[in-house]
Amino acid sequence: MTNDIWAVADIEGGKLKSISLQLASKAAQLAAALGGQSAAVALGKGAQEAAAALGATGVNAVLVSDDAVYDAYLAQPATDVLAQLIQQRQPKAVLLPATVTGRDVAGRLAARLGLGVEYNVTAADVADGEIAMVVPAFGGQLNVNATFAGDGTRLIVARQNAFAITKTGSGATTETIPAPAAPANGAKVSGPFGTEGATEEGHMTTVNGHPQYVPPPSRSNVEEAAIIVSGGRGVGGPEGFADLDALAKALGGAVGSSRPVTDDEWLPHHHHIGQTGRTVKPELYIACGISGAVQHQAGMQTSKYIIAINKDKDAPIFTFCDLGVVGDLKVVIPELTKLVEDYKASH
Ligand SMILES: Cc1cc2nc3c(=O)[nH]c(=O)nc-3n(C[C@H](O)[C@H](O)[C@H](O)COP(=O)(O)OP(=O)(O)OC[C@H]3O[C@@H](n4cnc5c(N)ncnc54)[C@H](O)[C@@H]3O)c2cc1C
Repeated sequence: MTNDIWAVADIEGGKLKSISLQLASKAAQLAAALGGQSAAVALGKGAQEAAAALGATGVNAVLVSDDAVYDAYLAQPATDVLAQLIQQRQPKAVLLPATVTGRDVAGRLAARLGLGVEYNVTAADVADGEIAMVVPAFGGQLNVNATFAGDGTRLIVARQNAFAITKTGSGATTETIPAPAAPANGAKVSGPFGTEGATEEGHMTTVNGHPQYVPPPSRSNVEEAAIIVSGGRGVGGPEGFADLDALAKALGGAVGSSRPVTDDEWLPHHHHIGQTGRTVKPELYIACGISGAVQHQAGMQTSKYIIAINKDKDAPIFTFCDLGVVGDLKVVIPELTKLVEDYKASH
């Protein structure tokens, strides 16, 4: 096994997600500390364009393929090519993003190659020639120090915003890697981020017999959003999310939720924030009708500013928000949306 460290980028709809730069920065740092080489791997539409930004993080190489097979199928083509590259080149570790795709690919790689995988990593550094990681447990109440035992490439799935982005200029080489054949029975990509049926307005639909509110793609990516308007059980049902979506639209943000909301199919699952959902770090997080359970807090506690709207003055969320509004969200949110729209119209 070499001392090389790779970072796998996440590109969605041709756009490089910021977590890709965070992982590439960390790969460069870990490889330098271990005396190895670092590389970022970018697959799918937009990979060629992403190479420059990935290279600027200080990695030695960027491996790219913008073959259409990666965008047409779910995780299988990425797994195929990464499994082959790992077997050929034997990196010490591969950093993958804790996104839907990254988690999926990591699990498949671990199973196919018999490798160890660590999920939800929030810190990684070199100690005694090994990668020492921090992994939160019990809803973020406890931090566990973890290292891999044995040989074999380590698969490290890191959370959004776990690592800082470095910009050291680009001396990176770009290598185009061959794409695998289309999988015979691979699951194909369709929505919610696809272009099929995408509209700029939210709409109601039915999923598994349950009514569901679907915000438009531009307000669906909570991990990249600077502002998140997030709703919990207090929103009362899927139709209530139209008001939250209107506020998110006025603010230029995205719509998030607590877990019961997506468990009950009120919103699609990729809106769920928390210990078992997405980890977010926006400038502003507006929690509407969310009680503030530790499992929810685990996914949004590093938001810069937290505003809570809740009709229960004793709700736990008021113990860790920056600004609390005790009131009925059905009254407060439309008022707030109007204030934002009026402000924008007059400035
Ligand atoms: C292993 C495990 C993992 C979990 N992972 C997650 C996770 O990742 N993310 C997550 O969110 N949860 C997670 N949970 C669930 C978590 O414990 C809570 O049950 C959940 O976060 C509560 O969601 P909520 O705040 O929307 O609902 P509730 O706790 O029911 O709170 C609803 C709130 O809305 C307020 N409200 C009601 N009506 C109005 C109104 N009209 N106006 C204003 N306020 C109103 C109420 O006062 C209340 O505070 C997990 C649980 C377990 C056991």
